Amino acid sequence: MDEKFDIVKRFVEDNPNVPVETVAKETDTSMKQINRWIREERLSFSPDSSYGIPCENCGRMIRTGRFCDECKTKLTNTLRSALDTPKSQDRQLWQQDDKNRMRYIK
Ligand SMILES: [Zn+2]
Repeated sequence: MDEKFDIVKRFVEDNPNVPVETVAKETDTSMKQINRWIREERLSFSPDSSYGIPCENCGRMIRTGRFCDECKTKLTNTLRSALDTPKSQDRQLWQQDDKNRMRYIK
């Protein structure tokens, strides 16, 4: 598989402006495999290439990986707030608990 990867990588470097379909045909590799290498950021379309792969979130054409820069930033922020949420929920529960206890004492 790695030998195949080298062949594909070399072909893409030599022919930066060919569509994935051609790369697949010329290197005798499946499109699925090439797309996977692109998603894994092992392969990348050249910046001058008019071809790309759609961002998995918004569909914008990107050179490599799974998401465009904008979505990457957004997703990082979402992840961060998702990590923050349990903490603030805990605090809320703790406050409620405290109130209940106060009421109980009264
Ligand atoms: Zn995007």
